[in-house]
Amino acid sequence: MKPEHHCDCLILGGGPAGLTAAIYAARAKLSAVILESNITGGLVNSTYIVENFPSYPSIHGMELMRRMRAHVDGLGVPVEEVCAVERLDLAGKVKTAETDEAVYRAPAVILATGRKPVALETPTECDQVHHCAICDGAPYAGKRVLVAGGGNSAFDESLYLLSLGVAHVTLIEVMPRFFAAAAAQEALFASGKAQGHTETRLVDLEVTGGRLTAALLENTATGETWREPVDGVFAFLGQIPNNALFAEQIELTKAGYIPAAVDMATSLPGVFAAGDIVDKPFRQITTAVADGTVAALSAERFLRGR
Ligand SMILES: Cc1cc2nc3c(=O)[nH]c(=O)nc-3n(C[C@H](O)[C@H](O)[C@H](O)COP(=O)(O)OP(=O)(O)OC[C@H]3O[C@@H](n4cnc5c(N)ncnc54)[C@H](O)[C@@H]3O)c2cc1C
Repeated sequence: MKPEHHCDCLILGGGPAGLTAAIYAARAKLSAVILESNITGGLVNSTYIVENFPSYPSIHGMELMRRMRAHVDGLGVPVEEVCAVERLDLAGKVKTAETDEAVYRAPAVILATGRKPVALETPTECDQVHHCAICDGAPYAGKRVLVAGGGNSAFDESLYLLSLGVAHVTLIEVMPRFFAAAAAQEALFASGKAQGHTETRLVDLEVTGGRLTAALLENTATGETWREPVDGVFAFLGQIPNNALFAEQIELTKAGYIPAAVDMATSLPGVFAAGDIVDKPFRQITTAVADGTVAALSAERFLRGR
């Protein structure tokens, strides 16, 4: 039998939304537990510099999240990291989350599971395909990389890779134009160490002795193919919502986001949503912490009114 824990409010996800919800829950004297499938910090952990979080004109993403986590720890909210939620039951008055090690029950739940990068599908498996420059970029100093994607992330992360000493970036976008801000495009191409190809897709990877040696590329307009020597591939193809745990239980939009009311209530009583998982126009740290605030205060109001 797994040990059972009871609390007022279960928080799924320990990114900016979940950590802020925990701060507000604790200060409202609710007992709360954060269940985090990885480590706390969420997407911000893989953001090099954050320059739009009020009170820090410029701060490393990991440092910002270390501070948010310390705030939560200071308020005594238990955080279960690297914990796999195997089952989640949101129906009924008491909700249940069963992890690999324990069972958690609470009358209120805040879903703050955020998003994850769209994975680059490659016909040939290879360990040198990455989705996070801050996590995996350092070993590519002096080497050549392929970056897939033509939005802001692809350009910003390419600039970051160059700042790590990467020798050359080949950036490919399948659409006829790049979508990143003009300033980022100018900065990257002005470096003299980057080349961009639109209407271009990755066809395959050439792996020799377990090491990536080249990417096979195709111009989709002309059908021309060529071999681009690279040591690593970084894909920045956008994000998809982390909804697998509750997709069958709760109303979602076609794109897989949770439609939430102004008080962050979802289609199920006692279940609230916060952060990037919510259907909304702007996904930023500040909007995630705002959602976390509202979700926790709404959970407290819900629990008081039962
Ligand atoms: C490349 C990039 C750069 C960015 N730069 C900025 C920036 O400079 N400034 C800014 O304001 N915003 C930036 N953003 C956006 C910002 O990172 C997000 O808006 C913010 O992280 C959303 O917070 P969140 O808590 O909703 O989700 P997340 O940060 O995604 O956190 C969700 C957490 O939930 C966990 N989780 C997922 N599934 C489960 C599960 N089943 N059970 C338990 N836990 C789970 C995840 O591991 C994760 O820790 C950037 C995003 C990207 C992708």
